[in-house]
Amino acid sequence: MYAFEIKEIPGRGRAMVSTKSLNTDDIIFEEEPFVSCQFSWNAAYGYAACDHCMRPLETITENIRRLANQPGLEVPLTEYDPTAQWLKQFTSCSKCRVRYCSEECRIEALKRYHRIACLGSYRNDNSHPINKLNEIWKKMHYPPETGTIQLLVRLLAMYQESNNKKEFLENLQSFQSLVINKEQRIYHKMLGENFERQMEQLYVAFCEAFQGEEFSMVDFTTPEAFKALMGLMGTNSQGIATSVLAEWVKKVTELPLPETDKNKLDEYIDDIYHKVGEFAGEFLNNEGSGLYLLQSKINHSCLPNAQVTFPYSNDIVVLKALQPIQVGEEICISYLDEGQLERSRHSRQKILKENYIFVCECFKCQREANDPDETSEEEYDDDEMDMDAAEDNGMNN
Ligand SMILES: [Zn+2]
Ligand SMILES: [Zn+2]
Ligand SMILES: [Zn+2]
Repeated sequence: MYAFEIKEIPGRGRAMVSTKSLNTDDIIFEEEPFVSCQFSWNAAYGYAACDHCMRPLETITENIRRLANQPGLEVPLTEYDPTAQWLKQFTSCSKCRVRYCSEECRIEALKRYHRIACLGSYRNDNSHPINKLNEIWKKMHYPPETGTIQLLVRLLAMYQESNNKKEFLENLQSFQSLVINKEQRIYHKMLGENFERQMEQLYVAFCEAFQGEEFSMVDFTTPEAFKALMGLMGTNSQGIATSVLAEWVKKVTELPLPETDKNKLDEYIDDIYHKVGEFAGEFLNNEGSGLYLLQSKINHSCLPNAQVTFPYSNDIVVLKALQPIQVGEEICISYLDEGQLERSRHSRQKILKENYIFVCECFKCQREANDPDETSEEEYDDDEMDMDAAEDNGMNN
């Protein structure tokens, strides 16, 4: 039994509302993604993650050595390696060799999409239409990544494999769809300045990838449907990051060590972060994104009462209460990260409008409504388009 219902709230649109009183840290729900996928560059650069659930596939030593580009680096406390318990279960597709954390993931992937999406011996052949499509995407979307065309490839393979296409399409339609005329902003954000030409180029490659006799993709291979899928990905996808380094650091820093050992460990960890930072920069995690049927129904607030977490080092979302929530109260998360949440109302609303196409009218924004329209100091330079979204009121609809 869930502790919430999804319903329409006048003026707010679709919302998740609590049906049970919740305490701080209570788990509201756990959810596997409808579909998830590692980002294209992240995979190309060798960030090792399960092809199905994104669990890290490296030991702590392998991970630190790769991120620091220092093959001889020694790592202490490897008895707390979070990967150790999974090592023996690692497996791969016998045809294309993509890797999985477990037999469960391999079978689940095969059942849902991989039989269709498997490239077999063409996996490293850049003339394969799906690889061509991915390469075109990569040239348009350099890191830091916020999406991948591979998510759509996986989605179409799932559709093809689905034995209940009606239900599949209903699920797909339950994601927030874009209102015509407001979609341009999202495409610009995903594809940059020349997004119209790039969209065309991607569309042609997409159709080539799905034109074979084994596909019955009439529903998806019109230009409108392709654009709708891209928009759906742009507005609904939730970022996923997994890291054996972060997991290991969390584990070892919680150890009850004597003061001197603790200090030594802290110094060592600082040194590790310095080394990996020098080579890998900000790119420390396996990164990807997913579409979640429940999570995507939660509205944003700049004062959220719930939080999306990934406690299992894979793509399973766990929604946790950040504070007590009363029966009938709307459950909200923040679409902004912590740093962004600290910024001025004007800055927050600008990011939300550009990325999620709505004007936030949460309690905090209303309270700050009379603050001057100033961007926060750390505001980065933005290539904003001159598009009028001022009439966009309400959320998520
Ligand atoms: Zn897995
Ligand atoms: Zn395969
Ligand atoms: Zn707000």
